[in-house]
Amino acid sequence: MTDILVSEVLTGKEIDELARTFELVYAPDLWQQPEILAERLFQFRALMVRNQTKVSRELLSRAPTLEVIGRAGVGLDNVDVDAASEHGIVVAWTPEQHTNSVAELTIGLLLSLARKIPAADRDTKRGNWKRQYFTGIEITGKTLGIIGLGRVGLSTAAKARALGMEIVAYDPFVDTDSVRVLELRVGMKSLDDLLASSDFVSCHVPANSDTRHIISYEQFCQMKPGAFFINTSRGAVVDETGLIRALNENRLAGVALDVRSTEPSVRSPLDEMENVILLPHIGAFTHDGQSRVMSTVCRDVAAVLNGEAARSFVNFDRPRKGKLRKGKDDTR
Ligand code: NAD
Repeated sequence: MTDILVSEVLTGKEIDELARTFELVYAPDLWQQPEILAERLFQFRALMVRNQTKVSRELLSRAPTLEVIGRAGVGLDNVDVDAASEHGIVVAWTPEQHTNSVAELTIGLLLSLARKIPAADRDTKRGNWKRQYFTGIEITGKTLGIIGLGRVGLSTAAKARALGMEIVAYDPFVDTDSVRVLELRVGMKSLDDLLASSDFVSCHVPANSDTRHIISYEQFCQMKPGAFFINTSRGAVVDETGLIRALNENRLAGVALDVRSTEPSVRSPLDEMENVILLPHIGAFTHDGQSRVMSTVCRDVAAVLNGEAARSFVNFDRPRKGKLRKGKDDTR
């Protein structure tokens, strides 16, 4: 039996430390070869992933020695948590270590859209000096509509509030009397009302069957003419075909996407649009956030392998091998 298989790019001093303590196989491209991954995983006690390795029910059924999955990140759309729980496998994760990084990127995109910063930068580097062409808007006093008022949504709301924005939110699972909602003076609304009243709409929901294409052409048509749209959550929540149609009809002033329906992204009409900002899913990619993520996930993988309890886990803190049970239904 071998200790740890790393199937994606996970680097840093914390991984180096794990490799000194345990037998660790680093195979950052293995997520692209599911069959080879399944064959190799057969003998490992721990699997460490980001969001690209598909940790499916089928894969887990072929991993009899697996005790812990270390998910460096928050989205669990690539990990079948129910199947892991049924096999008694701990799912360790880092639900809030990236939160601030993603919220800061969202604010960066908001300001970039409002002031057309990327387009002005590109144009100036081409030798132009078109000041009027890049006239933007202020964000102070404008309304930011947040869809999904969880960790990232709330953190974004707090930062936008500090910049003088009004905040409205749609989240059917958030108590309208919660302290954070009251403290940040967030106006909780229906999705329809949020779309109709926001100057900027920002998506922060998890990807699941309820949120798939929660924003499509119909929703873009409900937005204020000339509104801005930002998605730093998951690509599946936006219908890109509907988005392209809405942009072609000039319904939106600008769009920023950190996440795409297909990742890595494929060529798209969005690539050619001046008022669209496209990023390669970098919301979590700050040195600060990565360092917090790596120390948390490496600590918990090491704990489980040493027979101790994980501290940041989705289902249970120690493996339950031999005691097969149904885990909690976690759709985060
Ligand atoms: P979270 O679980 O804390 O918050 C999600 C919120 O969405 C919750 O408050 C939930 O009640 C709400 N929600 C669920 N279903 C909804 C629905 N149908 N309609 C409206 N609201 C709904 O998650 P988080 O940590 O804030 O992360 C938010 C999103 O950001 C997730 O999709 C996550 O995967 C993504 N994310 C992206 C990056 C990146 O690199 N861009 C990094 C981290 C997280």
